[in-house]
Amino acid sequence: MELKDLPPLRDVIADHGLSAKKSLGQNFLLDLNLTAKIARQVGDLAGHDVLEIGPGPGGLTRGLLIEGARKVLAIEKDARCLPALDQIAAAAPGRLQVIEGDALLVDPLAHLTPPIAVAANLPYNVGTELLVRWLTPAIWPPFWDSLTLMFQKEVAERIVAAPGSKAYGRLAVLAQWRCEARIVLHLPPTAFTPPPKVSSAVVHLRALAAPRFAAEPKVLEAVVARAFNQRRKMLRAALKGLVPDLEDALLVAGIAPTERAEQVSLEQFCALAREVAARR
Ligand code: SAM
Repeated sequence: MELKDLPPLRDVIADHGLSAKKSLGQNFLLDLNLTAKIARQVGDLAGHDVLEIGPGPGGLTRGLLIEGARKVLAIEKDARCLPALDQIAAAAPGRLQVIEGDALLVDPLAHLTPPIAVAANLPYNVGTELLVRWLTPAIWPPFWDSLTLMFQKEVAERIVAAPGSKAYGRLAVLAQWRCEARIVLHLPPTAFTPPPKVSSAVVHLRALAAPRFAAEPKVLEAVVARAFNQRRKMLRAALKGLVPDLEDALLVAGIAPTERAEQVSLEQFCALAREVAARR
């Protein structure tokens, strides 16, 4: 059987008894036109191995394969989904490998050949945790060229937010420091089965070869975490004790000590991280 001849996802779900489990954040995409559209947001699929997290019954997996991914490595926690995924693997010989496991614990890298793209429609908590890990690897550039990820709309907006907006915070700084980040698709709750309570959006992040502004990653991460932990406080209070001469470090970085984290640009955060590193 070829990919295009596989049964509709609604039938797959019925045949394999894949009633959605809330505990696994299961909201499935059943419209193959939509999953193909999401797959196309990845970019150059034919030239990439794709790491897919949480394939479920395989709607996005099919989209990725039909749109030409060189290989898909899919990590799925729910063993009930494996027979449906095996059926897809049989229709795309040698191009789909499935690992049963928790994506937070499995190391997929041994099974992938660069260049690598990541694509996922994941539960909110797992997605955010993985995103932060992918954005803060030990070395840069990371193992992936791009991330194409579904999030709740509100989380997607936090990733692409600009300074001065309520959504701007740690996620925006981490994402935009070394990536180009864009929302590429908006999806209403009705796109999913069962429909979640909130709207969703697909974010595409492309890794830049080098950071936009120089800074030590660990120092920048610590400064940004502290600054936004108390986002309503002025930075001279929120960052108190970070370095002995904090107000001077802020001024050298071009930041008024009375400013709040929300107003500070990426460039200013990086300048502050350099000052902090130099004064420690
Ligand atoms: N990609 C499918 C789709 O778009 O229809 C399923 C999306 S559903 C929102 C999330 C999927 O992630 C489910 O299949 C769920 O079992 C799986 N999942 C949840 N937590 C996981 C984890 N920690 N590791 C791997 N898969 C996980």
